[in-house]
Amino acid sequence: MAVNLSDFGTYPFSLPPLPYAYNALEPYIDEDTMHYHYDKHFGGYIDKLNKALEPYEFLHDLPLEELLCAPNGLPPEARDSIVNNAGGVYNHSLFFSGLAPASEDVHEPDGMLLEAIEGFYDSFEGFKEEFSARAAEVFGSGWTVLASDGEGNLSIANLANQDTLLCEGLEPVMLFDVWEHAYYLLYKYDRKEYIENLWNVVKLR
Ligand code: MN
Repeated sequence: MAVNLSDFGTYPFSLPPLPYAYNALEPYIDEDTMHYHYDKHFGGYIDKLNKALEPYEFLHDLPLEELLCAPNGLPPEARDSIVNNAGGVYNHSLFFSGLAPASEDVHEPDGMLLEAIEGFYDSFEGFKEEFSARAAEVFGSGWTVLASDGEGNLSIANLANQDTLLCEGLEPVMLFDVWEHAYYLLYKYDRKEYIENLWNVVKLR
């Protein structure tokens, strides 16, 4: 489910169309949440990233990856705003492109991913338990990511806010958005129930 960053182009970035209907993930993610989360939150990161980049013409032809991984080359006064919002764009595109309607036969891993998961976590069930427990532990807003190092090694990481693993040579295989904005309308405070239900729509093949 890796995101092809070249799809994003460069400044000004724009919100790609949602790859399924806004109600396609019901009952696990409701249409209302999808509108707020995709249009307002994801769209908001794109708007804020464009606004932060606007005064700096020398950044206008840099792809998202370079904006994220070369923060020392960014103007100090705009660095946090650019990195945080670019991270929000990157994480949300990965998250939404990694979901599919529950009826599709893509929610259990097969092939090499299944073998790797069984190697590191004994079974897919065991992996789900460990990943869900880590996601429940995220303090405040953030993400839980299953990452691959490209040599067959898997690891689970919790990331705060809009941090990413992009610049550490790790490729995200799957990630859960555990910001309250991802679940509060439907699940209220119950992050655990949201996490359990997310397994019904997350793409693993
Ligand atoms: Mn989100």
